[in-house]
Amino acid sequence: MKNCIFCKIVAGEIPCNKIYEDEELLSFLDINPANKGHVIIIPKKHKENLLEENPKIGENIVKISQKISKAIKEGLGAKSFNIVTNIGKEAGQEVFHTHIHLIPKYEGEETHFWKAKKTNITELTLQAEKIISKLD
Ligand code: AMP
Repeated sequence: MKNCIFCKIVAGEIPCNKIYEDEELLSFLDINPANKGHVIIIPKKHKENLLEENPKIGENIVKISQKISKAIKEGLGAKSFNIVTNIGKEAGQEVFHTHIHLIPKYEGEETHFWKAKKTNITELTLQAEKIISKLD
């Protein structure tokens, strides 16, 4: 897609530190890493976010996440990972081309990257009812 920075990387129009490539996916280092070895995995074909993807691509994304995470562990000494995808600007999405972040964590680093909000059982029950009522 025109003006999509990740499509330009796929097309070879702008450079990246490539980690992995197959017919469907491309993976490279994040240029503004959250941590050492922060890797991005993208489907080559442009879709705005993960919710727009064919679920079949999920199998390859999981397989390649496993393969690259193992290499980050062995190559850089990572102990743990946050594997996340941001969907929509309120969630922090800045590049509107589906991508998965593999963010390594090293021994002694802080654990959670979000803050839990206070709630109660009544609120949780109401929320669950509203979500379940809309499941197809
Ligand atoms: P998100 O906020 O989930 O949309 O994440 C987009 C990510 O893409 C950010 O972490 C950026 O640092 C990263 N990014 C943007 N442009 C490039 C680029 N040219 N090469 C590598 N990573 C990039």
